Amino acid sequence: MARYTGPVCRLCRREGEKLFLKGERCSKQNCAINKRPTAPGQHGTSRKKLSEFGQQTREKQKTKRIYGLMEKQFHQYFEVARRTPGVTGENLLRLLEMRLDNAVYRLGFGRSRTEARQIVRHNLITVNGKKVNIPSYQIKVGDVIQVRDKSKSMQRFKDVLDVTGSRSIPEWLSGDAENLRGTVTMKPLREHITYDLHETLIVELYSK
Ligand code: SF4
Repeated sequence: MARYTGPVCRLCRREGEKLFLKGERCSKQNCAINKRPTAPGQHGTSRKKLSEFGQQTREKQKTKRIYGLMEKQFHQYFEVARRTPGVTGENLLRLLEMRLDNAVYRLGFGRSRTEARQIVRHNLITVNGKKVNIPSYQIKVGDVIQVRDKSKSMQRFKDVLDVTGSRSIPEWLSGDAENLRGTVTMKPLREHITYDLHETLIVELYSK
């Protein structure tokens, strides 16, 4: 699946806020948003008031960027969310949260979603004891996500846990950092997704 490979701090600057795409650096003073909070490009310093369409588009772009998705894949998630009973916007966020790469990130086994995705791709993760290397894999309640036994001693995970150890794990997951293991205890509720996201704007945009 295609993914954005350009400079990620530029994406935060475009959205005018921290999207936490780089892990450790995001909480440091040299975060690009602290240093240069203007939008990238020649006219970056002049942020115009957005139209309704502009606001909806920006919200969609921001959500897509947080979860590291391209347009087509994001739209596919929206279509699944629309067909699922319940509130479409919340269904969409739940589908995004229940991607395996996101769960690996949320459990603190990756400093960023990009790193978590790489960890999954490199065959370092099992779900219920079986190797899964698909970042978009949808996890289910009761699933046990774990770093493979033979990979647990890697220096990489020690370094990661040094950074993510103080990060809180959302209520829908229970984590065991010592054993690099986590369990999905429930489906994420809207209040568990603490980003400042306005999913109704995305629903409005795609419903036009
Ligand atoms: Fe965004 Fe992190 Fe870069 Fe800051 S350091 S601009 S939060 S990706």
